[in-house]
Amino acid sequence: MTDTALVAVLLATAAGALAGGAWVAGRRKAGDRQRPGFRSSPHYTEGLHCLATGQLETAIHELGKVLRDHPDAVEVLQVQSHLNREVGKVERAIEIHRALLARKDLTRAERAYALASLGTDYRKAGMLDRAAQAYGDALDVDPRNLHALAGRQKLAEEQRQWREAYEIQTRLARMRKSDDALVLGFLQAEMGREALRSGRRDAAEQSFLTALSLDRRVFPAHLALAELWLERDPRRAAQVLEDAVAAAPERAYLAFDALQKAYAACGEPSRFAALCERLVGQDPRDWRARLALAGQLRAGGRVEEALGLLLRALEANPHVLLVHLEVWRTLRVLGQLGPDEQRYVATVEESALYVDPHICTACRYRADDMLWRCPHCHEWSTFVEERVSPAAGSR
Ligand SMILES: [Zn+2]
Repeated sequence: MTDTALVAVLLATAAGALAGGAWVAGRRKAGDRQRPGFRSSPHYTEGLHCLATGQLETAIHELGKVLRDHPDAVEVLQVQSHLNREVGKVERAIEIHRALLARKDLTRAERAYALASLGTDYRKAGMLDRAAQAYGDALDVDPRNLHALAGRQKLAEEQRQWREAYEIQTRLARMRKSDDALVLGFLQAEMGREALRSGRRDAAEQSFLTALSLDRRVFPAHLALAELWLERDPRRAAQVLEDAVAAAPERAYLAFDALQKAYAACGEPSRFAALCERLVGQDPRDWRARLALAGQLRAGGRVEEALGLLLRALEANPHVLLVHLEVWRTLRVLGQLGPDEQRYVATVEESALYVDPHICTACRYRADDMLWRCPHCHEWSTFVEERVSPAAGSR
């Protein structure tokens, strides 16, 4: 696990601990139980220290010592089970939660929280039916339990029940007073794709339009609309793709193929090169627009110009293997490669090296491609191109 991933885990853990703290405060107000003196234990302090420095296993060990002396400390049990889940010991987390739920002295809020946490344990363990049951039980105890609602929303996403996920997310946004328009937009786009798969084109179109009215940055909705409109109305398709580029220029390259098709269908293929030139002017580090433009120049016989453009792209982005590959291809077209070099380039073209590395900004999960939803932390629209710095001493 990378350091950053650990920080993410730690933050998630801290969030869990905070939520725990909230109901501890609520319980204190209720005044129905004596507070255990676990906070004075040196192991508790040590456990918190380990938590703050990302040493989760040691934190579990220290908090275990606290629980030996204070087996009734509900909040320590909650944090302990949460930590076990985070380090992958989901069975242990489930065990702690079930023992906790067997107790008769929990307050309503404590019971709802423990049930919701148990639901998340089951969800992480892939036992989705049991997870649904536990979240449902938590909401029976406390219909406004945010932890259970958020868990159920994620569960619906995992089961590709997009409408249900959308409805719960709407409720969550209202209750938390949060702006979830981007996530809601992505969920609408998924509903649209689902409608397309079952042949309901009008419903699909409506979902994609709703997605964009929620948030213009829902890139897959632009792409899907362009595809729907391409044959009937290529100008409208080109327009929606240009809107996508304007709303999220850092993702413009995802629309390049569709834009080329749309401009060609309009009978104006040169508009693509003009768009690339505009993008290059806006962001000198945009190697993808340079790459696409170089491809256009090369196809039009302006090979020297293409090479110049690629070499400038490399200066700003020496880490991008795809640009290196395009330089080789262009040199080949210029006839500057001997038979050995040509064999080398052919090998390189087939190699798996030339993937397009992307990384999740929320949990640092890496993928070979751009993903709309992270398969690890399940957040939406968190992937960015992974930029690698030049090797030390190379400059
Ligand atoms: Zn992630």
